[in-house]
Amino acid sequence: MLGAPSPAGRTPARRGSVNVLTHRAGTNFAVLPHFKPNADPLDVIGWALQAHPDLVMPSAFNLNGVVLLDLAVRAGYSGEVVFVDTGYHFPETLATRNRLAARYPELQFVTLSAGAHPEDGQTPDNLYASDPNACCAVRKVAPLQQYLRGKAPSALLNARSRDQASTRAEIAFVEDGNARRKINPLAHWTRQMLEAYAAEHALPVNPLYFDGFLSVGCWTCTRAVHAGEDARAGRWAGKGKTECGLWAGAGQL
Ligand code: SF4
Repeated sequence: MLGAPSPAGRTPARRGSVNVLTHRAGTNFAVLPHFKPNADPLDVIGWALQAHPDLVMPSAFNLNGVVLLDLAVRAGYSGEVVFVDTGYHFPETLATRNRLAARYPELQFVTLSAGAHPEDGQTPDNLYASDPNACCAVRKVAPLQQYLRGKAPSALLNARSRDQASTRAEIAFVEDGNARRKINPLAHWTRQMLEAYAAEHALPVNPLYFDGFLSVGCWTCTRAVHAGEDARAGRWAGKGKTECGLWAGAGQL
């Protein structure tokens, strides 16, 4: 896929061992490009970098996020990667963030802390169990919304894909919102494609993934996925909740 011919108006260049995409001046980015259903994610990211130079990438460093991060660097992204530390993350997730930060020094890793400890008093004890929507709203969505209000990027680079869950089956490459665009270059990639890319490039995938945690969130709300389940079935299992609120619902980014 990385060796695919470059579309017209774009020149592939080499920067170290990665491809860097540059565009000719004069492209009208007010009009959304028509991406083919099987568009190369590098093309989508390349367009995004030109159309939205203030692009910001939130990430929880799941498989999708790690793959997108690597592709973004190959496309020339050198902006922020913003992670919300809810206080409930697995040590493996924090270690994955640190490994990525060491691997990609050209990126700026930003950690927003909702509280250093679950007992920090920001939420009642066990709110995650009694009202996980409220817990996510306070510990995850609010810190990121506050950060983005201050930074005001015109678009976010996001790693969601359609095959993660039935609730994500309609994700488009570009979603327009009130506050900002969301650009989803991996919308059409399957788990198999993501795994193959990660293996080919020896990416530092969260080790919990290989124990069946196909989507990793807070340890309080994540279990391993059973055979035949959606990749996100282990998130808030049995709680009637499928999204944290960052990407769906009234408070979405
Ligand atoms: S995933 Fe669970 S612990 Fe983490 S913020 Fe949401 S409800 Fe709270």
